[in-house]
Formats: sequence, structure tokens, C-alpha cells
Amino acid sequence: MTIKTASLGFPRIGRHRELKFALESYWSGKSDQAALFDVARKLRADNWRLQKEEGIDIIPSNDFSLYDHVLDTAVMVGAIPNAYGWKGGPVDLNTYFAMARGSQVDGHADCGHGVPALEMTKWFDTNYHYMVPEVSEDQDFVLTSEEPVDHFLEAKELGIHTRPVILGPVTFLKLAKARGATFKPLDLLLKLLPVYEELLRRLDAAGVDWVQIDEPISVIDLTEGERHAFSVAYRALAKAVPNLKVMLAAYFGGLRDNLVAIAAQPVAGLHLDLVRAPDQLDEVLKVARKDQVLSLGVIDGRNIWRADLGSIIDRLEPVVATRQPAGIEVSSSCSLLHVPIDIELEAALDADLKTWLAFATQKLGELSTLSRGLVEGKAAVFEKVHAASAAIAARASSPKINDPLVQGRIAGVDEAMKRRMNPFAERRAIQADAIRLPLFPTTTIGSFPQTSEVRTARSAHAKGALSSTDYESFLRKETEAAIRWQEEIGLDVLVHGEFERNDMVQYFGEQLSGFAFMQHAWVQSYGSRYVRPPIIFGDVSRPNPMTVRWWGYAQSLTNKPVKGMLTGPVTILNWSFVRDDIPRSQTGRQIALAIRDEVMDLEKAGARMIQIDEAAFREGLPLRRKDRKTYLDWAIECFRLCSSGVTDRTQIHTHMCYSEFSDIIDAIAAMDADVISIETSRSKMELLDEFRSYKYPNEIGPGVYDIHSPRVPDVKEITELLARARQRLADSQLWVNPDCGLKTRKWEEVRPALVNMVAAARELRNEALGR
Ligand code: GLN
Ligand code: ZN
Repeated sequence: MTIKTASLGFPRIGRHRELKFALESYWSGKSDQAALFDVARKLRADNWRLQKEEGIDIIPSNDFSLYDHVLDTAVMVGAIPNAYGWKGGPVDLNTYFAMARGSQVDGHADCGHGVPALEMTKWFDTNYHYMVPEVSEDQDFVLTSEEPVDHFLEAKELGIHTRPVILGPVTFLKLAKARGATFKPLDLLLKLLPVYEELLRRLDAAGVDWVQIDEPISVIDLTEGERHAFSVAYRALAKAVPNLKVMLAAYFGGLRDNLVAIAAQPVAGLHLDLVRAPDQLDEVLKVARKDQVLSLGVIDGRNIWRADLGSIIDRLEPVVATRQPAGIEVSSSCSLLHVPIDIELEAALDADLKTWLAFATQKLGELSTLSRGLVEGKAAVFEKVHAASAAIAARASSPKINDPLVQGRIAGVDEAMKRRMNPFAERRAIQADAIRLPLFPTTTIGSFPQTSEVRTARSAHAKGALSSTDYESFLRKETEAAIRWQEEIGLDVLVHGEFERNDMVQYFGEQLSGFAFMQHAWVQSYGSRYVRPPIIFGDVSRPNPMTVRWWGYAQSLTNKPVKGMLTGPVTILNWSFVRDDIPRSQTGRQIALAIRDEVMDLEKAGARMIQIDEAAFREGLPLRRKDRKTYLDWAIECFRLCSSGVTDRTQIHTHMCYSEFSDIIDAIAAMDADVISIETSRSKMELLDEFRSYKYPNEIGPGVYDIHSPRVPDVKEITELLARARQRLADSQLWVNPDCGLKTRKWEEVRPALVNMVAAARELRNEALGR
């Protein structure tokens, strides 16, 4: 029986974040290219060896990247915008990193010297970000490197025969951005294919027998034409290199209406995501050719829970018999890039919780147990299967995850809890009376610069080098200075500055029950930036108030209103690893109740305005249009649940730091926040068209200061932006604020920018009042 274990990709960053440190050292000029390459080579070798030791039969190569695999592909096929000054031939590291991070001349990347980086955006619905390739209508493609071949040979030297991974041509072009809106990148497919053919020929010549071609785009909504592009591409590749076997990898969802088109491709293997879409297996078995190898992605590549090996073996056993002689592969649903490397590094973690988790290394072990169990029978792996089911059973009944109080509260949620007492129009009058703000009120999004003093004090406190009393008085001093300064420049609604917060999710997660934080469980977010997402393992509740003290301190210093500042339930959920034993929506509701408790406590303490940030609200949007309503329904419900307990007098704000609202505008309106602040400065307010045509009723603060850039906007620029906003919305709806929080900026930039913002608002006020 042919059953193999396959890995689709392994984390690149190193157990101890070696890649990050090597990159930073190289960028700062402390080490040279050779040193960086040495680290990279060692990381690759370690990964190959580890996967071999863990019993993986099909080990990937070219899953490594110094920065991002989509960028690597763009560079490899010569899709390098003119701005980077590439003259043909091999692409040097400077050009590569200029595309990744922008190049700095005199240290002024954003002021017109040097070149900006490519755009960056989220890789499907993950929290990994890729560099968006940019192609022009007259784009020529050329193979600039043979990295996939080099890495294959590098592994071979070590005695490991690998299956190179390349990003598929259809996905590459679909993710690319067209320079000039006159064409679609996919129109360039015929020009791109010869480069892929050439690459495959070289891989073939180097002794590669199988190549994994990733086409995650096959799990999203495609047009007939886009589906046809797969046929064009894969027929051409099969014809050009008939001996090279292709494993076409479709992950992050089910193939659904694309299944027939994808299964019809002349490829030797098909990889399926059976974690996100377990039900597609029956359909696939009906349409897949008998000579096709099926790679069954049954281990979750996106989450961190130990798998129930026994039930997976039971599910796959009957399938295996029908798929001979071509055979099957057992694999993770997608690359393991999205999970941390090794649970064994978490020495301080709760011992029970530890037995419930499987990180990338443990997942490899699970794959080998599965394949042995399928070949030799469950009895042969009895101990491992038993250990897995025992851990899962222990988890299910553990008092650490089950909180009857929380479950009872959830059961008691009724419609009234998700509705403010009165509609916005009535609340508005009451709030206007209670709060007394001028026309075009000015405010900020919450955080002020996290200076090196703030960060140093926090880490000194964490290490025990700074006493809690000293840390506390340091934070009080920062907060007081921020309040005084906001009063001085004349902002209308103040914030406390968030100096006490490390991260907008972590700060809350650390104070909520049901959350665990890891020490070494880093996951790549983009390039050299890694994050440690919290793990939500149990029922969520809020034992104690989380923000009331800092808010209260700030409010005690001023008569102007200070906004309470919270992170919303949907954002906390979307930036965490979530439970797989209850629906996402259920955990969302639990977090919503916890935040609701905080909202009520803030109101009780006297807060007149409470902002609930939903920075990641849109990120949770499912890849398929058909699935979006369900998500939006419960996401809206969560927001309303956390925000609706207050009286009409209390003004609820929310903030979303992006500018794409076209497909979610009804949802935004349904959230019924009294005020929403959004990013608009870069799109020059055009996005407000959406709000205008929708007749969005509540108040809006369109960002007038692009906080992503060190540039300081002048008064004229801001009044012009506001004038554009006034063409689209009623004066009475408009607030004046930056695009997002200011924590990444320097005070030298923030001070003049906000002074200008306040001046612009005053100018406008005078104009509107005819003064
Ligand atoms: N209140 C947060 C801040 O200002 C919001 C951050 C965000 O939206 N990403 O930092
Ligand atoms: Zn933001």
C-alpha cells in the first residue's frame, strides 16, 4: 500500500528566531551577506533533518525564504518594477530588500528619496503578510534565478531528496497588482508560462521527480475565465515537462465549484485541505482520476491543537483502499508556516495545556503516526493513538476550559442585550446635551508614541529590574504629560495614551481567563516581524476590571472627556489561536460578554465615551462570498453584545484601521456605534463615497493624518481633506482624527501634526459657522 507522509512547508524563522536576528544584523551593517546566507543555509538544513527525523517521507525544499515567498517568486520571474533600477541578470540582495522594505537614501525612505517597498497585504485569511507583486501591461518575464534548483541540490548534498515548492502561476498573477488599471494581471499568463516551463525543465534536469505547486487561489470564488486559466497553465506545463510530476496544492478551504476544473488538470497529484473542508472528500473521490495521488491535508496547519489520530485513521482507512495503486499522502492542511515550531520550548506552560497542543514539530510526528496506523493497522500505533485521545478527552472535561458561569451567561443572552435602549437619532440628542462638543470635534485613536523610554521601562519591569511602584509612577507621569499636552493644544476628546499596554490584544488577553501566552511560540507575520498569538483554550471571562484604573486616573486630571479604550471581541478573536471544540462565534460571544463587563464598569466609573477598537473586524471575512453573511452576522452580534449595555448618554466609538468598506458597509452600519473612526487620508476621502451612497446615519471620523508615514501634514492639506469629507457627509456627522493610533510614531512628528489638525478643525468650524 502506498501511503506517504508529506510536509507542505515548515516555518522558516528558526527555533530561536535565528532568521530575524541574522536579517537585522545584516540590515544594520553589522554582518555581511555571507553571514546571512550561512544562517539561512543552516536553517534549511536543520528543517530538512528535523522533518526526516520525524518520519516525513516527502520533505519540501524552496519553502524557505529570506523575507517572503511571494516576493521570491516575483524576483525569480523578473517582475521587478522599474523603480528598483534592475537592469536584468541576477537580482542582488539590495534590490530584493528594497522591494521588501523600501530603500533609504539618507534615511528618508518616505520623503521622496529612495524607493518605497512593494505593497504588503494579508495572505488569504491568515495573519501572514506577503509583498504584492506589481506587473505592467507590457511586462516581460524572465527567469532570474534557479533558487528552487539550488535548494534541491543543497538538500541532496545532505542526503535528502526533496519536493520543491513553487507558487503557482495562476495564484501568482491573481495576487499581483496591475500597474495602471487597464488590464488584469492574469492576462499576462501566456507570457509568464514560458518562465515556469523553463524552471520546471531545470528542476527536471536536476533530478527532481515531484514538484509541489501551490494554488491556494483555487479555493476562492473564480470566474469561468479564471478557471480556464488553470487549464491553460497546467496543460502547458505538462506538455513542456511531461516527466516531472506535479502535486497541485489547494488549501485554505474547499474547492467547491472549482473542483471539477481543478481535478481535470493533467497533474499527477492533488492536495486537499480536509481541515477547513472535510466534506469535500466524497466529491473529490468521485471526480479524481484513479492514477492521481491524493494528498489528504488532515492535520490542521492553521491551529495548534493536538489531533484526534484514532478518528482520522478510521476516516481514512476506507479511502486508502480505493486509491491504490496511485496511493495517498497524509499531510497538513497547508504549510506549517502558520503555527509555532515546537511546544517543547514552552517550559513554563501549564502542564495540562501543554499535552493538548501540537506545534509544527509535533504535527510532523502526528503525520508519521497516521501513516503507520494506516499501513500497519491502528494496533501498531496503539500507544500514540491512545495518548492523543486521552489528551483530547482530558481537555474536553477539564475544569480549566469549562466554566459553568460563562456557559450559563451565554445561554442567558437575549435580544435586548444586543440593542441599545434607543435608536441613534435619539441617543445623539441626549449625548449632544450631555457631552457638549463643538462642530467637527477633534480626537485621536488612542495610543501616543511608545518611546524607547516607555519600552525600556516596560521590559525592565517585566525583568524585575524596575519595581512595580516605580513603573507605576513612570506610567502616571507619561499619562499626565499626555493629558496636559492634549489640553494645551486644544483637542476636544482626550485619550490616556495607552502607555501601559504592550499590545492591543495581549494587554486584554493577559487579564482574561481562558487565554494562554507562550514564550517562544513565534509565528511569522511578515519579513522579520513575528508575533506570538495568544491561545484561547477555555471559556473566557473577566475576573477584574482591566482598564478602569488607568482611564480613571487620566480622567481625574482633566474636565475634558477622556475616552475609555478597549479592544473589541472580534479583533481579539481574529488575532488569537482559537478553540476547535466550540464554534468561533461562541468564543466571540464569550469575549463580548467579558468586554461588556468592562464597558459597564467604565460607564459606572463615569466614562462618557468608550471606544471599542475592531481593527481586525474585516480580517475575519471568509474567503468565499457565500460564507460572509454568517460571519458578519455573528461578528456584528458580538460587537453589539459588548457595546449595548450602556445608557443612551454614553457614546460608543469604534475604530477600524483600513479603508475597504465597500462589501461590509451594511455590517458597519448594523454595529450601530455612535462614532466610527476609519483610515481615509491615503485614499483622499474617496472611500467616504461608500458611506454617502449608503446614507450612513451615525457619526464618522475619517482619518486626516496618515500615521503610517513620518510626514507631518500641514494645515492646508488637512483642511482640503476635510473639505472633501464635507462634500460627502453632513457637517454634523464629522469628527476630525488621525487614521490610526500613534504608537509607532515619534513625538516630534505627532506634536506638529496634531497641532495642525486642531488648527484645521478650527478653520473649518469658523467657515461653517460663517465667521
Ligand atoms: N486604540 C489603538 C491605538 O491607538 C488602536 C490600534 C489599531 O487600531 N490598530 O493604538
Ligand atoms: Zn487602527
